Amino acid sequence: MHTIQLKKGKDKAAFQYHPWIFSGAVERSPEATENGELVEVINHAGDFVAYGYYNDQSRVAIRLLEWRVDCPPDEQWWRQKIRRAVHARTALLQSADTNTFRLIFGEADYLPGLIVDRYADFISLQVHASGVERMKPVIIDELNSLLHPHGIYERSDARAQQHEGLTTENGLLAGVLPPEWVTVKEHGIYYGVNIVEGQKSGFYCDQRDNRLITAGYARDKRVLDCFCYSGGFSLNALARGAREVISVDSSALALEALGKNMEQNAFDRNNHRMIQADVNKQLRAFADAGERFDLLILDPPKYAPSRSSLDKAARAYKELNRRGLLLLESGGLMATFSCSAAMDMGTFKQVLAWAALDADKEIQFIHQFSQPEDHPIRASFPEGEYLKGLLVRVV
Ligand code: SAH
Repeated sequence: MHTIQLKKGKDKAAFQYHPWIFSGAVERSPEATENGELVEVINHAGDFVAYGYYNDQSRVAIRLLEWRVDCPPDEQWWRQKIRRAVHARTALLQSADTNTFRLIFGEADYLPGLIVDRYADFISLQVHASGVERMKPVIIDELNSLLHPHGIYERSDARAQQHEGLTTENGLLAGVLPPEWVTVKEHGIYYGVNIVEGQKSGFYCDQRDNRLITAGYARDKRVLDCFCYSGGFSLNALARGAREVISVDSSALALEALGKNMEQNAFDRNNHRMIQADVNKQLRAFADAGERFDLLILDPPKYAPSRSSLDKAARAYKELNRRGLLLLESGGLMATFSCSAAMDMGTFKQVLAWAALDADKEIQFIHQFSQPEDHPIRASFPEGEYLKGLLVRVV
C-alpha cells in the first residue's frame, strides 16, 4: 500500500474524522499511485492519520474510509459498512406504505462516493469515486444477499463521473432490467419511476417526511405546488383533503409523470390542474390576475452549487419567495425549501425575512424542515446537510 503524506498543518480536519483531503493538502504522493487505490495517509510528522482512496483527477484527492490503523479496509470492511447502512434503514424496510428510500448516502454512511437507492424491488446505484468503482463486485454481491432485489441498475451522474475521471457506463449490474415504469410507494401513494432515464435518480425521496408534514396543513385548502416534478407534494395534499391543487413545473416530462401518477392513484382530476411554465413567470401571472392561495409550496432546484455562488443564489431565493408571499393572505402558509448545501438554515431564514420585508408581509416560521433519516447528517461531515426548509405563516 502506498503512503501519502500531508502538508504541515493540514491534518486537523482529517483527525476529526472529516472524510475529504483536498489536493492542496497533499505534500507528496508516490508516482505510481493509481486512481481509486487504497492508500495510507500520514501527517507531516509521519503519524498515521487514516486509510482512504486516492484520486489525482479529483479536487478531493483522498476520501478517507477508516481511522483505525489495525483495520485496513478490505472486502469484509466494505461488506460490514454496507450491512450497517442497510440495517439502519430497518424501520423503512419494514414499512408497509413506503418502499422507496436511500439505502446508502455516501460519506454520511461512511462510504464516500457511493449512493444506493431502493425503488420497490429494484436498486439503483451511483458511483462518484474511482475507489468505489473498484469495489463494485463486492457491493453488488452484498446488496444482493441482503435485499434480494429483482435488479441492480447503475445510474451515475455524468458530471460527477467526469470530475473523478471515471469511465464507467450506466447499465444493468445484476438481475433483470427495471421496466420503463417501476411503481413505488411512499406514504401509501403510488409513483411511477423511470430508473433508467428519469431525471436525477427518478424520484426525490429526500422530501418524504416534508411532504407528509406539509400535506397535514392542506385540508380544504387551495394549494399551489411550484416545482412539482412528478407531484410528491401535490399528491400528498390531494390525499389529505385539499380543496384544489395546482401543480407547476417547466418540464413536460415531469408533468406527464404527474398525470400518470394521478391516474394510478385514482385521484379526482376535477380538483387538480397542471401548468407547464417557468415558476417565476407563473407567480407573476397569478399575482396580476389577483389569484390567492392558502398553501404554497416552493421546492426549486439547487440555486447555489457552491459557496462562491451563494450571493447570487440568495438573491434568486429571495425573489422567488417574495413572489410566493404576494399570493398569500393573512393566515396563508408557504412551505419553502432550499437544497443548496452552501445555504445554511440561518442564511435561509434571513433570505425569507428579506423577502417578507420586500413583499410587505409579516411572517412567522412555524416549522423547520430537514433531511429524513435515510439521509443522515454525519457530525464530522457537515457538507452532507443540504436540504432545509421553512413552513412560513403570513400574519
Ligand atoms: N417538489 C418535487 C421535486 C422538485 S425538483 C418533488 O416533491 O418531487 C425541481 C423541479 O423544478 C424539477 O421538476 C424541474 O423540472 C423544475 N424546474 C426547474 N426550474 C424551473 C423553473 N424555472 N420553473 C418551473 N420549474 C422548474
